[in-house]
Amino acid sequence: MMHVKHVLVLGGTTEARLLAERLVAEPGVRVTTSLAGRVAAPRLPPGDVRVGGFGGSGGLAEWVRAHRVDALVDATHPFAAAMSRNAAEAAAQAHVPLLALRRPGWVAQDGDRWHSVASLAEAAELLPTLGERVFLTTGRMGLAAFTELDALWFLVRSVDPPEPPCPARTEVLLDRGPFSLEGERELIRRHRLDVLVTKDSGGDATAPKLTAAREARIPVVVVRRPPVPEGVPVAATTDEAVGWVVRQLYAEGPAASG
Ligand code: NAP
Repeated sequence: MMHVKHVLVLGGTTEARLLAERLVAEPGVRVTTSLAGRVAAPRLPPGDVRVGGFGGSGGLAEWVRAHRVDALVDATHPFAAAMSRNAAEAAAQAHVPLLALRRPGWVAQDGDRWHSVASLAEAAELLPTLGERVFLTTGRMGLAAFTELDALWFLVRSVDPPEPPCPARTEVLLDRGPFSLEGERELIRRHRLDVLVTKDSGGDATAPKLTAAREARIPVVVVRRPPVPEGVPVAATTDEAVGWVVRQLYAEGPAASG
């Protein structure tokens, strides 16, 4: 009988869900997707799903060993740096091959007025020089960086309610992408937004805000991505990731890398 191979996908992204959909269709492959549990009602992928932290890299390595994981794919959000670090350490400890699936970052186009920053704190420092009515789309965590900015007004858009503390003058808009260009134009118009703050998340689902900002000629503060841990191969698409997994699972002898 064919030995069923077990793939653990660290999820929380559309790409992770698409990857799970593709991998469950592969013969002889069992998929578990792991979610952090941050989103109250996540869109669930096919296959098995487990929810909650592992307790650091050691806990993840233990889980990988106990559940006989044959390959690990870190398909977390490009800004989930702690989890990506844990994945790299756990893969080394448990001797399983690891791939990072990272959608490409966004690229500025003619007419864009982007300001690249390294962190939310740096974004907060820059904001008062750029505008007064801020479209803040960096997610529900980390808003403490903006609480000193009493002179600015914020439209905070997130899937679930933001984690306090928030800036004093904040309106919350609970919504989940994909977002339409028309919708983004309308938000900028209706709220007279004059600056946008975003992480360089990449992907199509949330890109229309960048087009709308370009059209409205408003500046955009773009928070740069943390690097992928050293030595971890990266796939940019679900297709590439499926190819990598299949090569790992059916490679002769020790798992190949790259
Ligand atoms: P993070 O700071 O890198 O991770 C913090 C801790 O959360 C990790 O140490 C781990 O706990 C747990 N964790 C994170 N992802 C996990 C997963 N897929 N399965 C199990 N445990 C996980 O992560 P984050 O930025 O808070 O993101 C959390 C989740 O939201 C991720 O799944 C990510 O893909 C998704 N997400 C993040 C963003 C963002 O902007 N950061 C945006 C959209 C979606 P233990 O150490 O206890 O294992």
